[in-house]
Amino acid sequence: MLANFHTHTLFCDGHDTVFDMAEFAFSSGFTHLGFSSHAPLPFDARWTMKEERISSYIKEIDDAKKKFNKMKIFTALEIDYIPSTWEYSKKIISDNKYDYLIGAVHLLGEPGGKDYITITGNSSRFADSLANSGKDIKSAVREYYERMIYLIKYTEVDVMAHFDLIKKVNVDFQIFDENASWYNDFLNDALDALAANPKIVEVNTGALSRKKSKDLFPSDYILKFLLKNNIPVVINSDCHRKKDIAAYYDFAADKLKSLGFYYTMIYDDGWIKTPL
Ligand SMILES: [Zn+2]
Ligand SMILES: [Zn+2]
Repeated sequence: MLANFHTHTLFCDGHDTVFDMAEFAFSSGFTHLGFSSHAPLPFDARWTMKEERISSYIKEIDDAKKKFNKMKIFTALEIDYIPSTWEYSKKIISDNKYDYLIGAVHLLGEPGGKDYITITGNSSRFADSLANSGKDIKSAVREYYERMIYLIKYTEVDVMAHFDLIKKVNVDFQIFDENASWYNDFLNDALDALAANPKIVEVNTGALSRKKSKDLFPSDYILKFLLKNNIPVVINSDCHRKKDIAAYYDFAADKLKSLGFYYTMIYDDGWIKTPL
């Protein structure tokens, strides 16, 4: 079965239309497709959807549902957690009905502040913004996982996106040692929060297909924790181009099976298990 619940289109920072993505997915044999534009933020963030485009987003997806009615299509959002904008984000979520929500942390600090850092760029850009922010790497990593913990404990998001995204800026360990005990302490706090408040964790192949990482999000260490604690996973490619819709899916499935997983989750008018 082919399914993807994390996809981006021209409504945010993707490169294809909703229709093109749906057509490509359908002709590639997909049975389930979820659209998850970056939810609007109340400041200038060019990679997010603009608030005034939400109604067109919903309408285009509804049109695709009618056109490709042999494939299940869903309307979702990928939402960033930033403390000062969360009230705004809650309103965005409640203004319309979404099938499910993906929670993510791509930003540290506060918009407009000198501590504002995006963690989706490359290592050297991250190092520069970190130096300008006056923070050290430990406080940046702590802030990253604290924001993930907030999403886990206090929000209605269904799926936690790219759980250890902070390592994306750390290709070849240029910025920090992922085996250091301080790193694992922050990560373990987030995993403990997850064990106490289970949510679906995404196995995200996107950075592999965009050559931004040499491994999946999350790491094997996290995957083993999820397995041990019966926390379900969903495989997504987080594609920004239709051609990447199933990129590295076989790699992800083989990895999960080799670790002992035997099912993943799919959304089918509710989250259900499906054999791997
Ligand atoms: Zn993301
Ligand atoms: Zn995404």
